[in-house]
Amino acid sequence: MARLRNGSGSLIRDLNRAAILSLIGQRGAIARVEIAQELALSPATVTVLTRDLMQEGVVREVAAAPSRGGRPAVLLGLVGDAAHALGVKIAADRLAVVRVKLDGEPLSFAERPFDATAPDALERLGDELATIVSAGDGLGPRLLGVGLGVPGIVDTPGGGTVESPVLGWRALPLGARLQQQLQLPILVDNDVNTLAVAERLYGRGRIVEDFITVTIGRGVGLGIVIGGELYRGSRGGAGEFGHVRMVEDGPRCHCGKRGCLEALASDEALVREARDAGLLEPGAGIGALRALADNGDEAALALYERAGSVLGRAVAGLVNVLSPGLVLVSGEGTQGWHHLCASFDAALREDLFEPLRDVPVEVDPWDDAKWARGAAALVLRATFAVPLYERQPEDAVRARLVGPLRAGAV
Ligand SMILES: [Zn+2]
Repeated sequence: MARLRNGSGSLIRDLNRAAILSLIGQRGAIARVEIAQELALSPATVTVLTRDLMQEGVVREVAAAPSRGGRPAVLLGLVGDAAHALGVKIAADRLAVVRVKLDGEPLSFAERPFDATAPDALERLGDELATIVSAGDGLGPRLLGVGLGVPGIVDTPGGGTVESPVLGWRALPLGARLQQQLQLPILVDNDVNTLAVAERLYGRGRIVEDFITVTIGRGVGLGIVIGGELYRGSRGGAGEFGHVRMVEDGPRCHCGKRGCLEALASDEALVREARDAGLLEPGAGIGALRALADNGDEAALALYERAGSVLGRAVAGLVNVLSPGLVLVSGEGTQGWHHLCASFDAALREDLFEPLRDVPVEVDPWDDAKWARGAAALVLRATFAVPLYERQPEDAVRARLVGPLRAGAV
């Protein structure tokens, strides 16, 4: 957390207000005295700023914390009903849509079929979102914006230009076009990054500052959180872990190269190998392979074992480089984790640098709602961000929360 100065200038005041919102948003209910300590602000400054935030209906007194002796400290929390955000996870064949309150609590969740690979996907997505947005018009609390998680590389969340080989999107100006159509702030990021953001704000990442989220399923993805912040790399390209080459002349990957981790350890890779080995009928998918393994089919189990081993070796390389405090494994592919975990763990521990060998690995069951919630968190996080420089549309999100709601204020 940035250390901020006490002062009365309006910029300093805005920075301090944003820092207080950020702290409450990330930590949950917190006492004024703790806010003052964390942000190195005087208690008087915290009292004035939090009184303003309470008058604006964004922050409220929630509960009294037990304290030793003396009076119990009153905690300050966010007013969930002050505003809401939409989060949408875009998959090749469906949209997962969640509506969340300002404090991150989900209001509703729905999935709807959607062909994101169709040539007119952008137009139809705009129409779908317009319908969803207008359906929430009667809900009362103001809509801050829409967050989108996509399987691809995004330049910046505010820029929203997407490269997605898996969806067939090339330099697609998703954010700009939707912002124009919906007249709302739109924030876009890679879907695994949105999952990592959700973990940071609502999951295990609340207590672990350095962690990685490895996702398995259709592909192999990676979200990196360092010092509590998502690491996006230059041009948003960090985390393309699935395209690390694991073997020479391996099977062809959909990225065009050979022997990528994703071409060896994804659900698609398992299915392809199973079909090649005659274990599956041409139309059968990962569910059928998992059923075979569940029934003890040795050939199916061997495929899982090999995939787990490759994945374990690859994750060991990551841990050796980043030394995370936690490895989270998530995604649709965790439905077969009971067949992957033994060989994964053996390969991981074998390849880990000795002092790092105890890194904990936790499996987070697959949950589309959580990914979508992470996409909504892109919007919520913007309200908590410290505005050190102009960042449209993040600043527009903040303006919608604490400023007068003007038509077209995007
Ligand atoms: Zn590849």
